[in-house]
Amino acid sequence: MKIGIIGAGQLGQMLGHAARDLGVECQFIDPSDSPPAGDCGDVIQRPFDDAAALAELAATCDVITYEFENVPVEALHQIGGNVPVFPPADALRHAQDRLDEKRLFEQLDIPLPGYRAIDSREDMIAAVDALGLPVVIKTRRLGYDGKGQFVIKDRSDIDAAWIELGGTALIAEQWVAFDYEVSCIGVRNSDGDIAIYPLSHNIHEGGILRISRSPVDNPALAEKAEGYMRRMLSHLDYVGVLALELFVSGEDLLANEFAPRVHNSGHWTIEGSNTSQFENHLRAVMNRPLGSTASVDHAGMINLIGEIPDAARTLDSGFLHDYGKDARPGRKLGHITVTADTAERRDELVDTISRSVT
Ligand code: AMP
Repeated sequence: MKIGIIGAGQLGQMLGHAARDLGVECQFIDPSDSPPAGDCGDVIQRPFDDAAALAELAATCDVITYEFENVPVEALHQIGGNVPVFPPADALRHAQDRLDEKRLFEQLDIPLPGYRAIDSREDMIAAVDALGLPVVIKTRRLGYDGKGQFVIKDRSDIDAAWIELGGTALIAEQWVAFDYEVSCIGVRNSDGDIAIYPLSHNIHEGGILRISRSPVDNPALAEKAEGYMRRMLSHLDYVGVLALELFVSGEDLLANEFAPRVHNSGHWTIEGSNTSQFENHLRAVMNRPLGSTASVDHAGMINLIGEIPDAARTLDSGFLHDYGKDARPGRKLGHITVTADTAERRDELVDTISRSVT
């Protein structure tokens, strides 16, 4: 069995490590020099939509998957006739366009913040009138980690927002004064078996995930999130891991966005779950039985962004994952996972470590 993976970043690398443990070979496509996943399989160094590279992957692999959501949907269609490609291209299409994504949530009766599509300055003014302030303006496509966003707090910000983001398809979203953010990570194989991880509580700074903790001690929220996840997986006839990010407001959950791939907020599953999200993604795309998604402990994950300080290499507790990337401001270079038998002890470890590495 050989799995083709479009993208050889850290997600590809962690998929590759899980594949090695399952005795499965991986081959990647990635245009960058020495990408992280180069340590666990052959990398075809070509753009993600390079027809010849995709054809080579399709010819040599039994199944194809991808590790990031900006893979052109056409690239999946190009190879889909020759080899199974999971997650399905339709899921990727919805995830690449915030308007399509929100319409999908509505169709599936998954609550979400109020929103409006924006194609002109007049639309922006109308959206502010309809949604009230603050609103966040986001590009419909190619935004990630909070990039391509502008928060309008006052009507006088409208011109600045239009100057910064106008000219491309946009969306306005009601600003949610959430209590905290969670993500739900689910997995489905081609037989339709579904497994769902306990919720992760996520802390972002500047739009980038900094810390995740799991499980979240709130069975009512977990049940709601699980219902939404099941609806999405079944409706999309989904195969693989899917991550759904949600805002918590009291006992309500509002969907923010979803990613049709393994997700940063699920990295804790490597040490903190019976089966990691990476192994379960591979099991799903190979249509093998899914592994248990039960937690083995209380887990915490701290992202290492911009640099991996020396302190991260000499920790008394915690598992360091160094992706082997060159340091650059704002770049995710690695993460540390901690596990503990109580939530309190886990939180102490997360606090101590995050203080020592930032
Ligand atoms: P996104 O790229 O849409 O996931 O946004 C990145 C982060 O910005 C989110 O994880 C939230 O912390 C924040 N954010 C995005 N949209 C909203 C919103 N409508 N209300 C409040 N915070 C938001």
